[in-house]
Amino acid sequence: MPPTLLIAGYVLLTLAPLALAWAQGKPPRPFLDELSSGLALAAFAILLMEFLLSGRFRSISERIGMDVTMRFHQLLARVAAAFILVHPFLYATPIGLARPDDATHRDHLGLAGAAAYTGIIGWLLLLLLVITAMRRTQIGHSYETWRITHAVGAVLIAGLIAHHAFAAGRYSGAAPLLWFWIVLLALAALTMLVVYGLRPLLRWRRPYEVVAVRPVAAKTWQLEIRPRRGEALQYEAGQFVWLRLGTNPWSPDEHPFSIASAPADRTTLSFIIKEYGDFTSRLGGIAPGTTAYVDGPYGHLTLAQTLRRGRQAEGVALLAGGVGIAPLLGILRQMQMSRDDRPVILVYGNRSRAQIVLADELEALVANPNLTIVPVLSEPDAAWTGRRGVLDDALLREVFGFDGAARWCYLLCGPQGMIASCERSLLGLGIPARQIVSERFLYD
Ligand SMILES: Cc1cc2nc3c(=O)[nH]c(=O)nc-3n(C[C@H](O)[C@H](O)[C@H](O)COP(=O)(O)OP(=O)(O)OC[C@H]3O[C@@H](n4cnc5c(N)ncnc54)[C@H](O)[C@@H]3O)c2cc1C
Repeated sequence: MPPTLLIAGYVLLTLAPLALAWAQGKPPRPFLDELSSGLALAAFAILLMEFLLSGRFRSISERIGMDVTMRFHQLLARVAAAFILVHPFLYATPIGLARPDDATHRDHLGLAGAAAYTGIIGWLLLLLLVITAMRRTQIGHSYETWRITHAVGAVLIAGLIAHHAFAAGRYSGAAPLLWFWIVLLALAALTMLVVYGLRPLLRWRRPYEVVAVRPVAAKTWQLEIRPRRGEALQYEAGQFVWLRLGTNPWSPDEHPFSIASAPADRTTLSFIIKEYGDFTSRLGGIAPGTTAYVDGPYGHLTLAQTLRRGRQAEGVALLAGGVGIAPLLGILRQMQMSRDDRPVILVYGNRSRAQIVLADELEALVANPNLTIVPVLSEPDAAWTGRRGVLDDALLREVFGFDGAARWCYLLCGPQGMIASCERSLLGLGIPARQIVSERFLYD
């Protein structure tokens, strides 16, 4: 879906409950009452759409990127939490038992019994969910524990708020707004069913197994897997999958990794993985034959998508920082295998020589006259004769300051700081923003 259509659809769905409430033509109340109800209605719509945003639907993330989709998910949850936070405190009308003579809740908010409890518990849980998500790394639980509690908490909150809105809300219990909520609730439930039921079932029918795990740089491994039967999944060079190793397809222990192999190699998927936390540090001990499952492919950091979107690609610039080389290696390998003869420049930054991944393979690739590799080290040893420093303004100006560079396409992957600074430098060189595509390895 084009980003403009996505944003328009999103805004429409967020504002639709306000329009549907207004269309009920109830007698007017004080402004603050209406503001409070309006914020709660918009917040509930945002919360239900959060299920879709986090459901890894390619139709949502393909054009804008999974990292941007997840960032939207995080930021909009904060907006919804802020709306819900102020919601109970804005009302000017007295709160209490529903009065039969005030069916429109104009003089009196009918809030008591179960509806009061679901409102209060939902309010508290939502704030807790957003705060624990924002402070996830400080809390100290494993990523998997956090994800399970986050998903269970989200379902609980949706149920509590739905009960509160239907039982106590002035507008939500009546058609057509009621039907709107039922459709959004059904979509959220369907998303959970797809994510935790259908997709794992499809994965279970397509198991892979580990072929080899070997070191390719300091604390960095190349993992190869192949399907137990048939061909590997179809993907575009530069995309990523969520990978499960030695566990079942329903396990929450899954991790996103870019595919470093070329799609032209139909039998094997390979990954370049750097040790980071508990899962990646165990990689060296994974035995050949271990069962693996993949969920994907996802990601927009591909040359094929770049061309489909009408970007120019007279040449291809690949800017990698550290293990960010993984998807770009996949693109290089694919270009090599498909005899794509466009000029390619790979600028590859690392701290030390020991961190350069697959140095032998990269050296062999340079035999291709169309490919230039510019390795850069920020902490080189005395024997290093290559470039020193980082991928800064000066370096990028030197490498990409030629005529026609604006018609090249720029694919970036690496740490957040490196991506942001490279994007700034490229824009400063006059490279149009639409020619630059980047992918982050972290969603926080
Ligand atoms: C799109 C994408 C592609 C990536 N490609 C590569 C790659 O090719 N090579 C590589 O070495 N690293 C890659 N990463 C990073 C890699 O996923 C993490 O380093 C790895 O998951 C860490 O797991 P851990 O158990 O070792 O560490 P943990 O301490 O458990 O996790 C460290 C951090 O990794 C992130 N993370 C962990 N699990 C998940 C998950 N299921 N979903 C989203 N984020 C998660 C969280 O931010 C977490 O705080 C990629 C990340 C993303 C988002």
